[in-house]
Amino acid sequence: MEKDEKDRKEGLNRRDFIKASALGVAAFTALSPKDVMAKVPKKWDAETDVVVVGAGAAGFAAAIEAAGKGAKVLMLEKLDVIGGSTILCGGALTFAGTDMQAEKNVQDSDDLLKKDLFKVGENRNDPVQVQAYLDNQLDTYQWLKKIGVTFKQLTIASGMSVPRSHQVVPPDVIKVLDDTARAKGVKLMKETPVTRLVLDEKTGRIRGVQVEQRGKTRFFGARKGVVLASGGFSLNPELLARFVPPMSKARALVGAGCTGDGLKMAWAHGADLVDMPYIKATFGYHPQSKSTKERAHIYYKGGIIVNKEGKRFVNESISYKLLGDAALVQTDAVAYSIWDTKIAEAAKDDALSRVDGLEKLGLVFKADTIAELAAKIGMPPQVLEETVKTYNAGIDSGADPFGRKTLTSAFGKPVKIENPPYSAFLSTGVILGTYGGIRVDGKARVVNIFGEPVPGLFAAGEITGGMHGAAYMTGTAFGKALIIGRVAGRSVLA
Ligand SMILES: Cc1cc2nc3c(=O)[nH]c(=O)nc-3n(C[C@H](O)[C@H](O)[C@H](O)COP(=O)(O)OP(=O)(O)OC[C@H]3O[C@@H](n4cnc5c(N)ncnc54)[C@H](O)[C@@H]3O)c2cc1C
Repeated sequence: MEKDEKDRKEGLNRRDFIKASALGVAAFTALSPKDVMAKVPKKWDAETDVVVVGAGAAGFAAAIEAAGKGAKVLMLEKLDVIGGSTILCGGALTFAGTDMQAEKNVQDSDDLLKKDLFKVGENRNDPVQVQAYLDNQLDTYQWLKKIGVTFKQLTIASGMSVPRSHQVVPPDVIKVLDDTARAKGVKLMKETPVTRLVLDEKTGRIRGVQVEQRGKTRFFGARKGVVLASGGFSLNPELLARFVPPMSKARALVGAGCTGDGLKMAWAHGADLVDMPYIKATFGYHPQSKSTKERAHIYYKGGIIVNKEGKRFVNESISYKLLGDAALVQTDAVAYSIWDTKIAEAAKDDALSRVDGLEKLGLVFKADTIAELAAKIGMPPQVLEETVKTYNAGIDSGADPFGRKTLTSAFGKPVKIENPPYSAFLSTGVILGTYGGIRVDGKARVVNIFGEPVPGLFAAGEITGGMHGAAYMTGTAFGKALIIGRVAGRSVLA
């Protein structure tokens, strides 16, 4: 009774809040409340300055940065391989104001990038996180070059008003990061899933982690703090169904570790979650795709997108995440990308749009006329002919029925589809990541629902939400993992 009186006077304190959040998570995961967080053990199995959870881009960036400042860093990876979704990704990284852009006379700046980010994100992006990206992006580009990352190509991609997608080879980047981390003395333990965060109930700080290692439960202390870099939750059907039911029809093509462990652990300690409803599938993948090889964003070079009935249903220049939404509600949740030989030629030097790889895999239907192409893919020929005719007429008149004025969101002029042979590729939306998640502040500190930092807890990469808002600009997910990962590696020592 006395305690009730006191609580009413003081409101919920932090520990109560944590307990209340814990109950919420427990109800969802069917765990008992005592299971959702661990307490400081009598003796740590090992103690270090910083524990980093997850060995993808964000984890390596954080670990290298912290170790570079003299901290003892332990990285924990649940799988027997490193690289997470990062190693599988398309390799597009968004930076603005680089030497590569200058060489090609591309005028870009933080301000233009910011404008584009808010446009793509429909102004729902968290300004604090966008600013953290802008403040640290160019330095991270230069840092990557310094540690040995090679940038292969500069292209324009979804959501960009100028070319700013800096192309890398992801396995090469992971190798460079791994080598750099080793050289700086970072200790990596594979096959060590982190299962709980350890709370010091006396101080209210996250003080370490509980892990499962070779069948044993162990506790590792982190004197300075824990950085969660455990990626997204694309492979957690319960979380997807809970936050983004429309994605239940989409397949996921991501790292095997993307099961939302870190998100649940942070949630148990009161972490706020943002952008959860904006999780999208990326359009342009074959429905049975097993890798980025079965993908082409040929529509950004001038192709059109039609449903199984042979009709267009969307302005092809919008973000491929929004194209994913539009395609998933068509018949059988698929659509066809259609293009001609000139468009294929224009795409041949662009890693994300080129179609020669798809042709080699036997995934492209080809014909000398639109009617023949339609017949090959089981579409009514007259309907597809009419669709292409109307599209070409719209280019002449400047009045496309779906409002297409550009190739990507603000770049390039649409072209007619009139140069045989014509091609078609069955495509759908595939989940490549969950870009909503834990909210962090500009210093990568995890914040609770009241905007207060959770002491000792940091997060970076796909586990976080807020950067993208309603939709994502190509290159900013891998980008934020590296950029904000480095921020986390510095902040954890502050
Ligand atoms: C096919 C594909 C193409 C993509 N293309 C692009 C692109 O071109 N540009 C772009 O910007 N983004 C792209 N993305 C998204 C981008 O790659 C990711 O968002 C980003 O690389 C995530 O980095 P991360 O370090 O946060 O997570 P990850 O790289 O997924 O790393 C997380 C690591 O944490 C580990 N882990 C998980 N749970 C635990 C636990 N409990 N304990 C210990 N370890 C744990 C995982 O096993 C994993 O190794 C793509 C993604 C995919 C899948």
